[in-house]
Amino acid sequence: MVNTPSLETITALAKRRGFVYQGSEIYGGFVGVYDYGPYGVELINNIKEAWWRAMVREEDNIVGLDSAIVTQPKVWEASGHVGGFSDPLVECKECHTRSRADHLIEGAGAFADEKMSVEEINAVFDGVREKVSCPQCGKKNFSVVRQFNLLVQSNLGNFSEDWTKEPTYLRGETCQGIYINFKNVMDTTRVRVPFGIAQIGKAFRNEIAPRQYIFRKREFEQMEMQMFTRPEAMMEVYEEWRTKRMQYYLNLGFKKENLQWHQHENLVFYAKAAWDIEYRFSFGFKELEGIHARSDYDLSQHAKFSGADLSYTDPVTSEKYTPHVVETSVGVDRTFLAVLTEFYAEDELGGELRTVLRFPYRLAPIKVAVFPLLKNKPELVAKAREVYNALKGDIRAEFDDNGNIGKRYRRQDEIGTPYCITVDFDTLTDGTVTVRERDSGEQKRVAISALKEVVGK
Ligand code: ATP
Repeated sequence: MVNTPSLETITALAKRRGFVYQGSEIYGGFVGVYDYGPYGVELINNIKEAWWRAMVREEDNIVGLDSAIVTQPKVWEASGHVGGFSDPLVECKECHTRSRADHLIEGAGAFADEKMSVEEINAVFDGVREKVSCPQCGKKNFSVVRQFNLLVQSNLGNFSEDWTKEPTYLRGETCQGIYINFKNVMDTTRVRVPFGIAQIGKAFRNEIAPRQYIFRKREFEQMEMQMFTRPEAMMEVYEEWRTKRMQYYLNLGFKKENLQWHQHENLVFYAKAAWDIEYRFSFGFKELEGIHARSDYDLSQHAKFSGADLSYTDPVTSEKYTPHVVETSVGVDRTFLAVLTEFYAEDELGGELRTVLRFPYRLAPIKVAVFPLLKNKPELVAKAREVYNALKGDIRAEFDDNGNIGKRYRRQDEIGTPYCITVDFDTLTDGTVTVRERDSGEQKRVAISALKEVVGK
């Protein structure tokens, strides 16, 4: 049986243990924005490292990029975001809460998505109006549906009185930075089609109803990879990447039954295929990652709007073409929430109930905690410090002398630390310490000289 922890449980643990804080909390919060605390940032870094390793280091033909958040505004005209990056919005006429019309429609058992025209979606919404109530006040008095553009505007580089007439934009997705650097990467490295460009970075969307904690934020982070292929090879490469990306989550330690495929019913005109990997969040199976076969749309659009030649000439056959694109796109924050949900557990150890994050070693924010058995014995504290100092350069370690040992174990269990080391009086005479393993609670004596070997993986 699958036992998914509730969102409240995850939120409370993440707050209590310094993983995630509400954005601008001391000012009452700021909707759709969160801050990551000391353990959160370690977990985020490990999530990104795992993705980078799988996408860049372990692949022969994928290179990395870190493009700017703000671009020439034309980029977003070419990409179609200025004209069409919108979600359908309805407003409750009673309490003025704004909701995503497609989400309300889905909740009423009908189908809608953000790609429908405003007329289409109004027709579907009118068909279910009776069944839909405002998520805030429960009333059924809604406005008509209108399209709301999600791009976030800025005045960067614009000093005129009314900068909103010619705004710049904070990127709504990271991949446009990849398309506009396609030529740079080709010209300055030795890549040959098929090759990919991978990037991790912040993206911004004026989400109408950010909710489900860090699942839907207004400022979030994406990990995207665009693979440039020969036109006729796109679907084969697409299938390869579908297989690889699902395997990636299984390799990370996710259970198969918590992942599923979802095929998009309604494709944009240029796309050839779109599947999502969905994760079983506490609020149901929802998109974690999108994998799309996008044809040559993006490069062709940027070639048209910029005037640059974004074609590729095969060095062997001299054939010239615009590469087609396979995209994989996943949110760092959604992965973070999926990881907390997947590895959260409550069990009984030594007759006591405990909460434990059973993170795989590579994701654990702290790999090892070092304790002196007693805080008020200077010789134990000094020895424990020595052990900690010897480890901390190579292994993410934490020193803790606060409270009794049982309490320290519980704290480390709750942040998912795989190993705890205790320095006791025997250590001073025989040079061994107790190493306690998180999941089994098993304890064994290990020589200090062998510690790196034991707790280093
Ligand atoms: P959704 O349908 O849930 O709004 P989307 O289809 O608009 O997502 P994409 O544009 O395909 O999402 O973005 C790729 C990935 O970026 C998503 O699979 C998700 O992991 C992440 N992502 C998108 N929007 C957000 C957001 N507002 N907050 C956090 N992560 C997001």
